[in-house]
Amino acid sequence: MMKSSPESWRHLRPGMVAVLGMPWDENSSFMDGAAFAPGRIREALNADSTNLCTESHIDLSVESRFMDLGDLEIDHGKAAMDQIEKTVRMLLDMGVRVLTLGGDHAVTYPILKGYKNGYDKLNILHMDAHPDLYDEFEGNRYSNACPFARIMEEHLANRLVQVGIRTINPHQLRQAERFGVEVLEMRAWRPEITLDFDGPVYLSVDMDVLDPAYAPGVSHPEPGGLSTRDLLKVIQSLSAPIVGADIVELNPKRDPLGISARAAAKILKEIASRMLEVSGA
Ligand code: MN
Ligand code: MN
Repeated sequence: MMKSSPESWRHLRPGMVAVLGMPWDENSSFMDGAAFAPGRIREALNADSTNLCTESHIDLSVESRFMDLGDLEIDHGKAAMDQIEKTVRMLLDMGVRVLTLGGDHAVTYPILKGYKNGYDKLNILHMDAHPDLYDEFEGNRYSNACPFARIMEEHLANRLVQVGIRTINPHQLRQAERFGVEVLEMRAWRPEITLDFDGPVYLSVDMDVLDPAYAPGVSHPEPGGLSTRDLLKVIQSLSAPIVGADIVELNPKRDPLGISARAAAKILKEIASRMLEVSGA
């Protein structure tokens, strides 16, 4: 684990994009392992077989506005959630844009709490095979099956748009209706669809939105998903600014060849590119 040190924080300036690892999977409903993801994504990102150039021709290895803060040392239970919220708010208050590496999807709720009052009209684009809208899952309201129910209850989003969904059940259909979630189910997906938002976007990428052929290393693989290129196109073609993002649910225990970590690293680079574009003014 690459621990986040106060030394790296001293170099932060407004307009920077900071990567922060969230090695936290205690709310995973099916299997643990996502806590190991940040380290594996970094390994893939820095692998000698590739480079740190984005498809928009930004070389992240020399980009002074791009910084990896390492991993947050995370507590347990309620203390962990408070700590995540506080850390994100601190970075936002410094004018830094935050790109976190999960962890499981439970991390998105405390992260979004950190954005409260930061933006008037924050839209969430949620890419996932699953809607994660359970009121509770096996008695846990903070399960990785529940974050978007908590986010909508607390009005942390102006709009929640979900893309790639292919496991919705009657309970979650009712939840989506109750919260006014715009669900673009995978069966209705077309690669030429473009997503329009009126205002800034927070992008939450659950790696299982990808078809298991592209990213088998997740806890909840679900066939019939997006290709890596489909997902990159969504990121690259968004007209609205991406002001924050997370990449969650990579499970290194299911990724012996590191294929899924490579996909996550690629997605990280393209999201970082879009976030730098926004803050480059
Ligand atoms: Mn999810
Ligand atoms: Mn999922």
